[in-house]
Amino acid sequence: MKEIKHFINGEYVVSESGRVFDDVSPVTGEKIATVHEGGQTEIDRAAAAARKALDGDWGYMPVAERMALLHKVADGINERFEEFLAAECEDTGKPRSMASHIDIPRGAANFKTFADLVKNVPTESFHMDTPDASGALNYAIRRPKGVVGVISPWNLPLLLMTWKVGPALACGNTVVVKPSEETPQTTALLGEVMNDAGIPKGVYNVVHGFGPDSAGAYLTAHKEVDALTFTGETRTGTAIMKAAADGIRDVSFELGGKNPAIIFADADLDKAVEGTMRSAFANCGQVCFGTERVYVERPVYEAFVRRLKEGAEGLKMGPSQDPDVNFGPLISQEHRDKVVGYYRLAEKEGATVVTGGGVPGMPDEYAGGAWVQPTIWTGLADDARVVREEIFGPCCHIRPFDSEDEVVRLANDTEYGLAATVWTQDLSRANRVVRRLEAGLLWVNSWFLRDLRTPFGGMKMSGIGREGGVHGLEFYSELSNVCIKL
Ligand code: NAD
Repeated sequence: MKEIKHFINGEYVVSESGRVFDDVSPVTGEKIATVHEGGQTEIDRAAAAARKALDGDWGYMPVAERMALLHKVADGINERFEEFLAAECEDTGKPRSMASHIDIPRGAANFKTFADLVKNVPTESFHMDTPDASGALNYAIRRPKGVVGVISPWNLPLLLMTWKVGPALACGNTVVVKPSEETPQTTALLGEVMNDAGIPKGVYNVVHGFGPDSAGAYLTAHKEVDALTFTGETRTGTAIMKAAADGIRDVSFELGGKNPAIIFADADLDKAVEGTMRSAFANCGQVCFGTERVYVERPVYEAFVRRLKEGAEGLKMGPSQDPDVNFGPLISQEHRDKVVGYYRLAEKEGATVVTGGGVPGMPDEYAGGAWVQPTIWTGLADDARVVREEIFGPCCHIRPFDSEDEVVRLANDTEYGLAATVWTQDLSRANRVVRRLEAGLLWVNSWFLRDLRTPFGGMKMSGIGREGGVHGLEFYSELSNVCIKL
């Protein structure tokens, strides 16, 4: 049985308390690893190691040298691609076809992209006139924020963790990472890559565990942690923000969503159906900017519902390694209970179940897995809980609309503001509509098309701040102004 340890100050260590928990396969329900659960002691050690590295080799390393090391980290992930891929698929149950195209390559790319970016981004300078005519010169300097606490979720474990660790290290910070208890493997494995690349001890630390009364809460409360970056549920973000208030520490949050897709009658229907198939069902619906509300202009409503149903019923469910599989399980039985709870609620709220709505029968060897059917509903009221609350499962509600104003109002009628997708061949209309949509990520005739140089983040209850490109530098570095009187 595999044993997953903490990675502190460049070494794999077990918990002082001896506490462990199980890492369970979502595909079979069987235990795949024993994971050490960190407590206050491990967080103290990790934070102290991170502080020491910040004040030592890493903090004072020339930028070019630091960037070269981060390139080596990316290369190291790619060299061990198969190992990362196997670990990620084992923890999440997602199809290899997805993890090999998205999770692992993008996980590696995050280190190169941010290293190159930091090397090339200038800061501002202003010459200022003064009464004595000699003038003054202002220029800005960036410095690392310090020790950054990184708390990451389970849906895209390596990708979303490195999306934060990449820019944090590129800006010269050190990190203590608390990966999701559901998916500890790739974050732990990255420690070996860091050592092999020559990243100094203490720059990258990992402590496993849960949230409340465990490693997550101890990390967010720790005095040595200067800033907290978190991806996960809005409710967890609220708890972390309260912890961050002590010591006035900065936060960057990527939180939940209830994202709309809008399909106008003039859209290329093939592409709109294919795109919505992915946005609703990819990763078993466990993508933060996935679509759970679909609004279709009335002339194409019936055709769209029929075609999405056909698509959903054509998905092939099964284990990661099967090359034909494009639909895996949910992350855990606990999450399945939540999703199936919404499936029951939809019926109570009066939904028409177009397809799915339950738990599929699986062969014996997978019967213990967290499988659910891809599900489509119609006929719910706009105030139904199923239409308003984030489910984070492979399901969507489809509703017809008749005008641009109506659909903009419906799409914005949510406390969230993460992503929205618009399908139309009329680019003037697309531009008009997206400018009125309250979301941080706006896609036209596409979904999950991401250029890492662009801003990423949500409005309203979907987050605080923007990461990606130069925008991440606002969070991962401190900007100071120097004013020299000439
Ligand atoms: P979660 O909030 O349950 O857990 C995320 C992480 O927070 C885990 O590591 C967990 O252990 C930790 N945690 C939980 N309680 C904590 C506490 N009190 N203090 C400190 N840490 C704590 O989220 P999840 O279930 O892992 O992920 C799914 C959620 O993440 C969904 O809501 C989804 O929309 C959101 N998400 C958002 C984005 C985005 O970019 N906006 C991306 C992916 C996922």
